Amino acid sequence: KIYHDDDADVDIVRSKTVAFIGYGNQGRAQALNLRDSEVNNIIIGNIDDDYAKQAQEDGFTPVSIEEAVRQGDILMLLIPDEDQQTVWNEKIRNNIKPNTTLVVASGYNVAFNLLDLPDDMDVVMVAPRMIGAGVRDRYVQNIPYPCFVSVEKDVSGTALATCLSIACAIGATRGNGAVSSSCREEAGIDLFAEQALWPEIMAIFREGYNVLHEAGFSDEAILFDMYLSKEPAEIFERAADEGFVKQLKYHSRTSQYGQLSTMNRHDGKDIREKFRRVLNDNILSGNFAKKWSNTKWAAEELTKEWKEVENAPIVQADQRVREVLKPDRKK
Ligand code: NDP
Repeated sequence: KIYHDDDADVDIVRSKTVAFIGYGNQGRAQALNLRDSEVNNIIIGNIDDDYAKQAQEDGFTPVSIEEAVRQGDILMLLIPDEDQQTVWNEKIRNNIKPNTTLVVASGYNVAFNLLDLPDDMDVVMVAPRMIGAGVRDRYVQNIPYPCFVSVEKDVSGTALATCLSIACAIGATRGNGAVSSSCREEAGIDLFAEQALWPEIMAIFREGYNVLHEAGFSDEAILFDMYLSKEPAEIFERAADEGFVKQLKYHSRTSQYGQLSTMNRHDGKDIREKFRRVLNDNILSGNFAKKWSNTKWAAEELTKEWKEVENAPIVQADQRVREVLKPDRKK
């Protein structure tokens, strides 16, 4: 189901105190959008640092997270996903007022039951598919942007109305509207892209480089052809605008034949099996979320992975080519 401006009543959120937990990418954009939608009772919860300074410059009076939670009828949980569980337990859980609504911008912590939710709490998701700056710019310019919405827990019986009121006030129900989804679906697809789709694409590029390099082709030519020319970015843009396969019409006939004849014969069986395992065993089972909640372990593992990739031949070649050619990323 798709929800439009007509489905929402912005007066609902205007009548509430909205507490922002976090004033980063999404927090700042959404708070400014709400204020411009005449939501006047906005409290920003943040420690006293650069984010709080930014909130002050924007005309808000930031308070501690605990204080913001104590005042809020609606809690906008807009800190990084990996920090939410700890901050919830230490600063949020014991300060929540009765009958509060929790709003998340990503499904992760709700989908994997990482937050200890009060029984009387409504939980909804308003998840823009857009970086914070995009959420703000598009609101100001009156341009629609994609967003997922869902009701995860409806104790009051009015959770959907509150959810749509917030979505509308941040500009997410304009144009094509906000798409009904769920925390499980949002988090599942997001993690799948991160743990199955993109790693496979990156590995394909890595192996493409290895084979072409072995064949004696120059690093400059290989990397320009593979991605430095930005051709893949253009292909994906056309795929979004005109169709995943239809964009092939912009390629030469030789290229069309090469791509279609190879892809049509690719049975995809091994990869499908692998993807199913990642989705079911690692993601939907909650195994990954459980491991990733251990923030110390997570930080160490991420550092290890970064160290390992530094030595990959394609990364070294990328550095060498950049030193020689200095491709200007802005052009
Ligand atoms: P940011 O990294 O921009 O969040 C920064 C904010 O979180 C700051 O206010 C920061 O305050 C606060 N914060 C960070 N760590 C902690 C901590 N340990 N304790 C308390 N506050 C902390 O986050 P995003 O805006 O990118 O993400 C927020 C939510 O929005 C997430 O759920 C994310 O998945 C979702 N989302 C993000 C999108 C994006 O493009 N960025 C797109 C759609 C959804 P300080 O460090 O001062 O404490």
